[in-house]
Amino acid sequence: MEIEEFRHWSKEAADWAADYRANLVDMPVRASSKPGAYLQALPSSPPQTGEKFSLIFSDFERLVPPGVTHWQHPRFFAYFPANASLPSVIAEQLTASMGLQCMLWQTSPVATEMEIRMLDWLGQMCGLPRNWEGVIQDSASGATFAAVVTARERALQWQGHATGMANHPVLRFYGSEHCHSSVGKAVFLAGIGMDNLVRIAVDGEGKMDTAALRAQVHADRAAGYLPAGVIACVGSTGTGTSDNLRAVGGVCQEEDLYCHIDAAWAGNAMVCEEHRHLIDGLELADSFVFNPHKWLGANFDLSAHFVKDSSSLVRTLATNPEYLKTQHATGMMPDFCNWSAPLGRRFRALKLWFVIRSFGVEGIRLMIRNHIAWTHMASDILAAHPDFELLAGPNLSLLVFRHRPRHFDTARLNQHNSHLLDAVNAAGFTYVTQTMVGDSYGIRLQVGHTSTTKHNVTEAVDHIITIATELAGHW
Ligand SMILES: *Cc1c(COP(=O)(O)O)cnc(C)c1O
Repeated sequence: MEIEEFRHWSKEAADWAADYRANLVDMPVRASSKPGAYLQALPSSPPQTGEKFSLIFSDFERLVPPGVTHWQHPRFFAYFPANASLPSVIAEQLTASMGLQCMLWQTSPVATEMEIRMLDWLGQMCGLPRNWEGVIQDSASGATFAAVVTARERALQWQGHATGMANHPVLRFYGSEHCHSSVGKAVFLAGIGMDNLVRIAVDGEGKMDTAALRAQVHADRAAGYLPAGVIACVGSTGTGTSDNLRAVGGVCQEEDLYCHIDAAWAGNAMVCEEHRHLIDGLELADSFVFNPHKWLGANFDLSAHFVKDSSSLVRTLATNPEYLKTQHATGMMPDFCNWSAPLGRRFRALKLWFVIRSFGVEGIRLMIRNHIAWTHMASDILAAHPDFELLAGPNLSLLVFRHRPRHFDTARLNQHNSHLLDAVNAAGFTYVTQTMVGDSYGIRLQVGHTSTTKHNVTEAVDHIITIATELAGHW
């Protein structure tokens, strides 16, 4: 591609993007493609000679959008959001244009130094301890993996690196029933084994029972295990419940355990002071992760990982081969590849710089406050309806409910609500996902998109009520 052709198609792509965002509201939220449709549409072998770019672009326009689930749709209420705010998209275009590899300070000094500054901004915005340091990871899963390996090495006095796990006592990690699947994955990837992630029971509010945690740690020690760390959760994925960090952190300090906090979604709400009670006691922990790529407007991927003691993390993850040695005075600036499992790093800090400056802290706060207020509004509408019941929340901007028509056979409620979810999502007007609350199948609704309005929330709730009522009539 010649540079003038690049100029032309970059502008075409920018126009396409603006039209896409402008017209999103009229599109079905979830793709309705049949499995295999795209495998059929795409040629089974690659072209041997280059094709005209106009053809590539028109194929993109024809083929791709119908197969897309529109995560930026203002009526996307499924999972958690993956907000790609417009300033962030522009930053991402510039990042791609420069195509940097930011593994070392020397490989692009501005990327490392902007990352330090942006994570410091985030720490201030969220009221995190001022002496903690931050690094951008690809995902909360990546940050939690880094934390678990650090906890493992700390427990083994940094012997696990060289020796593996064989001649050490079996390590144990702890998390509540609500902790995310990425915690289990981190534990088995770290060679500890899923059986050694002990699930601690929760109390009536979904918080880890810290008396049970302490008792389990003592019992494990007595049985010859080596307790290494606890992963506490702020804002569980199913229902949005949070552990009591002061209580969990207290046990960790007494028992000398590493404490990692997974606040992938809810951590973003710490921008609003009124929610900081959720991280009361954070200073007792060792590390904290949340995903600005979920709810802060920075498009995927961008996970903010904060640590009390960066030297433990670096001691665990650093490698120092000859081909990565650099000339700058070691110790002056971090080489962030030594803070994470992957070596290569994108220039992600630019997105934060654009987003935070463009919205301002007050703008971000307002967005999050609106999302939470509208979730409460949806909750009030459903709670006031005689045929709906709330199963959990609202916790921040997450609500779990189900349709429970009067005189309906309770044994069929799970099946009915699963049909309801399918019917709502097939209609395409809005998109919601499910969770189990105890034995009850619930519909999760979270409000979190930058472009969502209060009206989008009410119309989606009305739509769900209409479909539910029709469906119940068919039984
Ligand atoms: C979304 C989520 C994760 C996983 O986040 P990734 O960045 O996709 O790895 C982990 N924990 C919780 C509580 C989450 O909500």
